[in-house]
Amino acid sequence: MGRIDGFKPLKSGKIHVRCPKCGRKVSNTPRAAYDPAEAMLIETHCPKCCGDDKESSVEYFASNGDYLEYNGKGYDRVAIAIN
Ligand SMILES: [Zn+2]
Repeated sequence: MGRIDGFKPLKSGKIHVRCPKCGRKVSNTPRAAYDPAEAMLIETHCPKCCGDDKESSVEYFASNGDYLEYNGKGYDRVAIAIN
């Protein structure tokens, strides 16, 4: 199973989220305007895994699993989306 396996088909205007620590996957969370258009997956720690500091890196991946460079922030939205 690769990083991009195990999700439902991506819907328009949505993006998948995966927690790199526990592997929790949430399909079709709302996509934000600042998300890269070529991204289909975010990896960030879920609320359970990010601990008390509420800090987690956010990494974007394309539909083929390639890592996408991104310098913005999306964590707050992601944490809310997968609660
Ligand atoms: Zn987790």
